[in-house]
Amino acid sequence: MDEKKNFMQPESLMMSYGYKPELSEGAIKCPIFQTSTFVFKTAEEGKAFFEVAYGLREKQESEELGLIYSRLNNPDLEILENRLTLWDGAEDCAVFESGMSAITTVLMEFLSPGDALLYSQPVYGGTSHFIEQILTRFGIHVIDFDSTDTAETILQRVEAAGLMDKVAMIYVETPANPTNALIDLKMCKSLADQFGTEERKTLVAVDNTYMGPLWQHPLRHGADLILYSATKYIGGHSDVIAGACLGSNELMARVKGMRTFLGNMAGPWTGWLLMRSLETLKARMNIQEFNAGKVAEFLQNHPKVEKVYYLGMIEDQEQKRIFDEQCEGNGAMVSFDINGGEKEAFQFLNNLKLMKLAVSLGSTESLAEHPASMTHAGVPPEDRVKYNISPNLVRLSIGVENEKDIIWDINQALEKVG
Ligand SMILES: *Cc1c(COP(=O)(O)O)cnc(C)c1O
Repeated sequence: MDEKKNFMQPESLMMSYGYKPELSEGAIKCPIFQTSTFVFKTAEEGKAFFEVAYGLREKQESEELGLIYSRLNNPDLEILENRLTLWDGAEDCAVFESGMSAITTVLMEFLSPGDALLYSQPVYGGTSHFIEQILTRFGIHVIDFDSTDTAETILQRVEAAGLMDKVAMIYVETPANPTNALIDLKMCKSLADQFGTEERKTLVAVDNTYMGPLWQHPLRHGADLILYSATKYIGGHSDVIAGACLGSNELMARVKGMRTFLGNMAGPWTGWLLMRSLETLKARMNIQEFNAGKVAEFLQNHPKVEKVYYLGMIEDQEQKRIFDEQCEGNGAMVSFDINGGEKEAFQFLNNLKLMKLAVSLGSTESLAEHPASMTHAGVPPEDRVKYNISPNLVRLSIGVENEKDIIWDINQALEKVG
């Protein structure tokens, strides 16, 4: 598509890749193609476009997929998808109207009644609900594991359930929200190889939302599919809900096929907003990561803070080994246990002056929230204990403000506690 792709870094290509100004009156930016359908030049052209879109014949070498109807394709989505592939080195990408729609579409496409899904805990609340409450209604077996499990304990569990030849997918979220616990992707790949058969490969799907497209590249560590809530780092301005899935041409053809029939693709306006966001993705994430490091260091030394959960300060040796192997940055999520309980955590949150009290993450503004009563309120109490989601845990998503102002705010709010 563009030979610069072969030697330039993604951040250099986010303003131009995949867009031809001559097709849009010379406009330097891709316009918003706010249109539901596209005019064919001739009936023969319309026929040719449909043949490719419906898989009735293979696309020729030089042929591009013709524009037909905005549920199937639209320039704002296609260009965005092409740009997103660059960060993860993926062959293809599909953009959705939310992270949840990307996740649910992948689960529905690759799982059938009788199959088993192995998934990591804790996962995003919406994902956990879909897996446990909805997939199970369709006869899909679900088995969970967490960062304290080894390949042996996982195999034992699957074997005990009599599902060794039924595992169709391993679904992983790493680092886990809100405590940054890591799951070993290499271990997942080796488990998938053991479950897979000649006829069917067991797929590894990774929700990479917490690291964004910059700090972890799951395809390099054996994953087959990457999922994003593009609402978070990719959108990055708390003004749009969207999702994405990336992988090989072969798998993405299936994902896009399912998307066509569920009709949950993103619209052109969302595509345009995300293209605008991608131009500053690396600049934003770099500042967020730098600021988060300063915040974690400040919290670590504060007498009212009991424990800090931050990827730049991992103490456990096994977790540190996984981090060194599969992560390329420390992220911008910092959680901490404040001395006391829910009362002290709430006092802290209620006294913040710059940071906003809101869920979500990865945006330009810093956000703070209370996982036990907000994002993770649906997690059963005994699991909350198991995953360190305690009543005194506070989660921070660090933004692009000046780090001194963020630390000033955290410090003054901590002073009001107790
Ligand atoms: C927010 C989030 C989702 C869901 O994404 P939406 O865009 O809100 O649908 C899924 N996974 C993770 C890790 C998230 O943080």
